[in-house]
Amino acid sequence: MATYDDQNIFAKILRGELPCLKVFENDRTFAFMDIMPRSIGHSLVIPKAGARNLLDIREEDFMEVARTTRTIARAAMRAFAADGIIIQQFSEPASGQVVLHLHMHVMPVKEGVPLLPPQTHKEDPKVLEDHAAKLIAALKA
Ligand code: 5GP
Repeated sequence: MATYDDQNIFAKILRGELPCLKVFENDRTFAFMDIMPRSIGHSLVIPKAGARNLLDIREEDFMEVARTTRTIARAAMRAFAADGIIIQQFSEPASGQVVLHLHMHVMPVKEGVPLLPPQTHKEDPKVLEDHAAKLIAALKA
């Protein structure tokens, strides 16, 4: 399998070389809003360690990603008055992975409202800021 390349977009976000709307950070994980959300409140959870995907991440790093994913999912239910949450993770381009730094998609869903197809609509930054603020507030509650 190909090795991790630290020039990917999310590695640059982690190093502060590219901007993002951060909603959560701890020692091993980082979470931020997806710029092309498939549902209202779609965020991404990533490890700070360089891992390409589920196939190469160290178990202890993935445990922390799972923990943060759960935290974000529970807060997103409240923040966006969601009826459910879809967690999605792609490993390798053949599966649909575009950014080659492991990420968990956390997508709040409303009953009967389908997800947009991947990467179809670049959201207005003001809308994303509002969604980030709602998620941060729910994480603090
Ligand atoms: P993948 O198909 O690799 O699982 O999905 C990558 C995700 O990253 C997509 O949902 C896409 O919208 C998101 N994305 C791509 N570039 C950026 C970016 O520069 N910033 C943020 N916040 N999200 C991005």
